[in-house]
Amino acid sequence: MEQTLSIIKPDAVAKNVVGKIVDRFESNNLRIAAIKKLWLTSEDASRFYAVHEKRPFFKDLVKFMTSGPVVVLVLEGENAVAKNRELMGATNPKEAEKGTIRADFAESIDANAVHGSDSSENALTEIAFFFAKKELA
Ligand code: GDP
Repeated sequence: MEQTLSIIKPDAVAKNVVGKIVDRFESNNLRIAAIKKLWLTSEDASRFYAVHEKRPFFKDLVKFMTSGPVVVLVLEGENAVAKNRELMGATNPKEAEKGTIRADFAESIDANAVHGSDSSENALTEIAFFFAKKELA
């Protein structure tokens, strides 16, 4: 069993589609091992997205991720990292395949509804960023 980190971003939380997105995970054999709602500080978002620090969109990304509350989840299942990425669709919702979360709920490349770890190695780091061991069950 593999675990991955998902973030339901501020745009999707504001649209009140948390339950609809969680249903996509559960309907596709991903189990919720942990879940919480929180409001990231700029420091949190900058640390979480540190790999993108030098990218031109970094400031906008941090601003967007702190514009409202997010819901953070640990998803567990077979090939959870790849399966979650498949359910999410492409980073730019305009390029996301029909029926994916981003195609159905996202507006733009900034406000793109969800984050998902891109490797099992990064998943471990990202899960530890948000959750203590005892919060995973
Ligand atoms: P992801 O793994 O599909 O989320 O994509 P990346 O890890 O490449 O980028 C992280 C996040 O930065 C994306 O989900 C977008 O919200 C944002 N992002 C990526 N590329 C761009 C871009 O070209 N412009 C803007 N404004 N945001 C971007």
